[in-house]
Amino acid sequence: MARFPIAEFKDLATPFYFYDLTLLDRTIAEIKRTSRDERFKVHYAIKANANPGILRRIQAAGLGVDAVSGGEIRAALEAGFHGDQIVYAGVGKTDAEIMLALDNGIGCFNVESEPELEIIDEISGSMGTKANIALRVNPNIDAHTHEYITTGLAENKFGINLEQLPSLIEKAQKLENINLAGLHFHIGSQITETEPFVMLCETINRIQDEWEEKGIRFKSINVGGGLGVDYADPDRHPIPDFEGYFKVFRNHLHLRSDQELHFELGRSVVAQCGSLITRVLYVKEGTTKRFAIVDAGMTDLIRPALYNAHHRIENISSPNDVKHHYDVVGPICESSDCFGKDEVLPAIRRGDFLALRSAGAYGEIMASQYNCRPLPSSYFFEK
Ligand code: PLP
Repeated sequence: MARFPIAEFKDLATPFYFYDLTLLDRTIAEIKRTSRDERFKVHYAIKANANPGILRRIQAAGLGVDAVSGGEIRAALEAGFHGDQIVYAGVGKTDAEIMLALDNGIGCFNVESEPELEIIDEISGSMGTKANIALRVNPNIDAHTHEYITTGLAENKFGINLEQLPSLIEKAQKLENINLAGLHFHIGSQITETEPFVMLCETINRIQDEWEEKGIRFKSINVGGGLGVDYADPDRHPIPDFEGYFKVFRNHLHLRSDQELHFELGRSVVAQCGSLITRVLYVKEGTTKRFAIVDAGMTDLIRPALYNAHHRIENISSPNDVKHHYDVVGPICESSDCFGKDEVLPAIRRGDFLALRSAGAYGEIMASQYNCRPLPSSYFFEK
């Protein structure tokens, strides 16, 4: 079990996100160590967590950013990232967002459809500039992950299908205000096997070979994000296997010597450094169950309700007590507001602190004010 400075929690309003910045630093250092290749460019997918304290840390370490909205571009700029360090994806970019991106000299638009390509060309022309773009390809690869977080299958709304790709490459080359820099892919999230990434490399190799035969060479390839984390046992794997991840691309992707390879890692960068800390309000005896009712709900951490995800739950107030079975539930008026069923936990009492682990990614950023609740705050910890 991770150590928490629990004495310092006593006077804090719960629930709050606890961020271990030392672990975040170690994680980033490992990414930098294992991605060592001057052609590799790692972007942090800001959608995973846009807390300014986290962003500033990642910015200071020198990673780039992957944004999916004008709001994320602004958050990145405010944290000190430069426009050219930002790549910008999203199936529904508005005109205002495209202008914001162009105004700030965005590194690359990841373009997801033909009409979007046309609009970016039109807007950049009217602004007297040229937009760097990559075409987001939907490679039809099954990432073996939850259906809501698989994005590379033909039936998903994301990207351009392989059949439509040739005509879009040809079109992008002809448009005057577009600079076709490369191809972009992202097959899904929480991917814990190497096979989908190997398949992605093989698809990219095929596409590149075909186009090189026609005399077209891309400056950059972007393979998106997706590396998963160990939700079941975060202390066993506090830092994901970045060495193995980057090795797949080193070994299987035929990257040309003058090409850049971009990555957009989100979850794997920030998930393990965050925990949601909640106080137990009541222990309620049901007919067949015992409920631990906590003050955090699906409004603070929606992943269990949304994806049936499970976050490891720890009683950090009395870790060594005799164990009982509990359903750990929140106060929101929805039956899906449940963090765990039949959890075996050290005896829980009113006032105890529970930690919901691995909550640094897609946690705080997805919080809502449903039931007119306040948003959770955050607490930064450094050893
Ligand atoms: N890139 C794109 C285009 C995405 O849609 C996502 C997540 O949805 C990511 C990167 C980050 O993925 P992950 O957090 O799994 O690394």
